[in-house]
Amino acid sequence: MLFSQDIGIDLGTANTLVCVRNKGIVIREPSVVAVDVKANPVKVVAVGEEAKQMIGRTPGSITTLRPLKEGVIANFEMTADMLREFIKKAMRGSPFSRARVMICIPSGVTEVERRAVHDAAKSAGARYVSLIEEPMAAAIGAGLPVAEAVGSMIADIGGGTAEVAVIALGDIVTANSAKVAGDSFDDAIVQYIKRKYNLLIGERTAEEIKISIGSAAPYEGEGAMDIKGRNLVDGLPKNVEITSEDIREALSDPVNQIVETIRLTLEKTPPELASDIMDSGITLTGGGALLRGIDKLIADATGMPVHIAENPLDCVVTGTAICLEKDNLNIGRRLK
Ligand code: ADP
Ligand code: MG
Repeated sequence: MLFSQDIGIDLGTANTLVCVRNKGIVIREPSVVAVDVKANPVKVVAVGEEAKQMIGRTPGSITTLRPLKEGVIANFEMTADMLREFIKKAMRGSPFSRARVMICIPSGVTEVERRAVHDAAKSAGARYVSLIEEPMAAAIGAGLPVAEAVGSMIADIGGGTAEVAVIALGDIVTANSAKVAGDSFDDAIVQYIKRKYNLLIGERTAEEIKISIGSAAPYEGEGAMDIKGRNLVDGLPKNVEITSEDIREALSDPVNQIVETIRLTLEKTPPELASDIMDSGITLTGGGALLRGIDKLIADATGMPVHIAENPLDCVVTGTAICLEKDNLNIGRRLK
């Protein structure tokens, strides 16, 4: 049976994506909320792009935060508020009362937090809510043969977490989740530039540097970039030029932790499935898959072929859409 209002949601630590049946991806916004801390209880005043725009431009009582970043329960109420707003926005103009919603959340969250997400979608008017684990959704969205009797390996490198899993016969066989991903890359860049150049930069600048000249392995046409920050010695603004090589050195620690997580998962994989992965390789999804050379580095470190999925930032939400289309809502059953 087809439901015109099926909605798939990737509730990521960095970005939330929403797709609506027959419309494709309708929301792609940062997982950010702006809250009025003077209100009691604390009130969410804006979400997503709108909240991000408010950073630094708001009266003192309003602050912005990423409710999923740390995954703590206090912020899960804000996560629920954010989710409700995104659903409302995605459904603008259409009645939502019969919709089925499939939501993908980071696998580290607790049972109570899952319940909070589930209830938020219900209270937004969903008729049926199902949750799916991130690596499963990512693997389906990347087009891996998850239902078949062969092993597939997925490594989803997001903002807050990297999730690695081996999947066969529609189930997760082995999995590991590490709290090392895109945010850790940004932090590592901040720390490195502080140490090496006595220069203080913000997280957003660090992310820009990572995206413009960052890499995990040497690449052709490496770049350099002028950055501005605050000199830690005299407190004045200062300019320095940094290179791709600098950033590679800065990122080597967190990148190696991700490689370790992949190695650990491979070690726990039964031999038959491991030999499948030798053939089919490891598929990378999530924004972290876009870090230059990360595929090459993982391939060198593990001896496995590594592929970057097409549109790695969209795989999870696409995975939820495919499940809804196939009426395969039980694949997320493990979360209930
Ligand atoms: P999540 O699923 O946790 O919301 P995403 O899969 O949306 O995370 O990925 C967000 C992360 O990807 C951020 O840390 C962002 O900086 C990083 N990212 C996005 N584009 C690139 C790029 N071109 N190179 C390196 N990192 C990137
Ligand atoms: Mg994600």
